[in-house]
Amino acid sequence: MSNRKKLRRTPALSLLIRAQDGARISGGCDTCNAYQTIRADAYGANVHAITVHHDDWCPTYNAMKVTA
Ligand SMILES: [Zn+2]
Repeated sequence: MSNRKKLRRTPALSLLIRAQDGARISGGCDTCNAYQTIRADAYGANVHAITVHHDDWCPTYNAMKVTA
């Protein structure tokens, strides 16, 4: 039996995030001039995403990339 708590819906928080849908926020990386974008329903209703967009030359980003 799992002791994990069932995730609660947080409609007030989702409303705040939805109001910022598509917003571009400066920062997100200490190494390059990255920016972040907000997608309110990126993976379904109330499933939000913030994406960090690094510069191509960013060593932090390049260290995180999976090469296959
Ligand atoms: Zn970066």
